[in-house]
Amino acid sequence: MIKPFLTELRAVFKSAIGHSLGVLTLALGAVLILAGLVGSDQVEANRAPTPIAVTLDIAPSTATTDADVYSTVQVSGEQAGYNASWRDMEVRKGDSLSMIFGRAGLDSTDLQSVLDADARSKSLRSIYPGQTVSIKVDSEGRLSEMRYARSPLETRIFTRNGEGFSVAEETRSPEVRKAFRHANLKSSLFEAGQEAGLSGRMILELASVFGGVIDFVLDPRAGDSFSVLYEEQYLDGEKVGEGAIIAAEYVNDGKRFAAYRYTDSNGDQGYFSADGVSMRKAFMLAPLDFTRVSSNFNMRRMHPIMKVIRPHRGVDYSASTGTPVYASGDGKVTASGYSRSNGNYVYIQHDNRYMTRYLHLHKRTVKPGERVKQGQTIGTVGATGLATGPHLHYEFLVDGVHKNPRTALESLPRARTLAGKELASFRAKIAGEQTQLATYTNAWEMAIVSGAE
Ligand SMILES: [Zn+2]
Repeated sequence: MIKPFLTELRAVFKSAIGHSLGVLTLALGAVLILAGLVGSDQVEANRAPTPIAVTLDIAPSTATTDADVYSTVQVSGEQAGYNASWRDMEVRKGDSLSMIFGRAGLDSTDLQSVLDADARSKSLRSIYPGQTVSIKVDSEGRLSEMRYARSPLETRIFTRNGEGFSVAEETRSPEVRKAFRHANLKSSLFEAGQEAGLSGRMILELASVFGGVIDFVLDPRAGDSFSVLYEEQYLDGEKVGEGAIIAAEYVNDGKRFAAYRYTDSNGDQGYFSADGVSMRKAFMLAPLDFTRVSSNFNMRRMHPIMKVIRPHRGVDYSASTGTPVYASGDGKVTASGYSRSNGNYVYIQHDNRYMTRYLHLHKRTVKPGERVKQGQTIGTVGATGLATGPHLHYEFLVDGVHKNPRTALESLPRARTLAGKELASFRAKIAGEQTQLATYTNAWEMAIVSGAE
């Protein structure tokens, strides 16, 4: 069902690129200039790897501020003596530092000294393909200096100091640019996100921002849409990573939810609705990795076995065996065991009034008495106990009474709300972002419409 549809969707996007990349750029440019947001030369349309990806580099002042988040350690591009006597060793699949030292002809005394240098040497025990270890050898064939590039942004430097090595860090600050993506959902949030060119990590982050108000397994439907404004990190003109979501919007069944990142005067960061109400809720609605749920949009189904025995008192999420199950809120595990009907089950107590239960698990990864955090994995989906197929049976109890987790939300403690000066400063901060979200979304929709002709 999904495959042919995706093909069609791709065709639409392809046609959108073919006909309207220019239109998109023009439309965006025109609208943005009208909105007074950017100069005409600052909007860059970027095709790969997305059908219509717009990289927006709109606010240099913001970028500089955001870059401060990253380390401020001195960057020294030209290290003294960094020349031909250096040898760059690419980390290969299955490599260890000892294998690299072997290839470089260094002996195990050097290896041991580097590994013993200080606590930061620990990172050398798990090196990954794609990283680089650069080695400098002295006239006696001993290691004199080693540079370990953990990422394009972060290098650890080990310098001989007598018989041992001293450790230093070199960190580069990426240039932070803003990026925008928009998509209409046809099959699932994950597929729409991928079509729009969002990374898996960014899709999960988007879902996590709205996880307290939207159940990304049960709620999404065709016609939903999202817009997201987020940070991308560049180094020497190349994208090296992604930062945080700055602002995002999700329209579910015609209802609009928006979230804006805000750091309050105490330095605490979080996402808030336009009214200044925290998006972080005591419970997340869907307590499992929604990207692993097999079929979306048609998940409301009766419990095949229990409905004839007693009223069904939970929500069932069909998902493949092994799908991670999360604690829906902070709490304490009160039970983790096995019974003939529940199979492997976990119960979590949250404050005094709330309890959540997770049944038919394949594996349990928490013990009674253990404290758990919201989003922490407590087990995996299975079909143990009285279950016809792999699914998570999830129950939500308030004062010992089963409730629909969604309608029970009203009885929950009020989420943090910004007030007074804090609210004023939040409003001032998001004003531009609100305009940007609306403007880019409109321009994007216009481009798709004109491209489809
Ligand atoms: Zn059930």
